[in-house]
Amino acid sequence: MIEYTGERITKVEAERREALRLARGRRGGDDCVYIFELNARYDLDGRTRRNVARLINHSCAPNCRADTIRGHIWIIARREIAAGEELTFDYGFAFKEWRQHPCRCGSARCAGFIVNAGQRWLLRRIPRAERAAAQRASRGL
Ligand SMILES: [Zn+2]
Repeated sequence: MIEYTGERITKVEAERREALRLARGRRGGDDCVYIFELNARYDLDGRTRRNVARLINHSCAPNCRADTIRGHIWIIARREIAAGEELTFDYGFAFKEWRQHPCRCGSARCAGFIVNAGQRWLLRRIPRAERAAAQRASRGL
């Protein structure tokens, strides 16, 4: 449907940029994640204005999914999408980083944090108070 384009970078470079992103977030700047895993060796950094797909938000109940097809990342509809409906996909972040990615997608099935669907159940093992504290910390409260 729409290709997620960007710069092909090594894992080492992706880690360097991730550290920069976290530092930027701590200073109150843009800490959005645009780096996508391409394969075992390379990632794709979609932080470029030309990559319109970078504006697609995460949802815990998304209407699209991201597929890697022959080295390209495609955002593909999972169902019929109405005109004017916001496009979303599951960012699929690893459970171990749950604290860094609180979710406010607003869906009825929102897990509270952006964690890939396969690992989302692990969030339920975290005490409610700890999850609430992580949500507050992310809003700078
Ligand atoms: Zn959510």
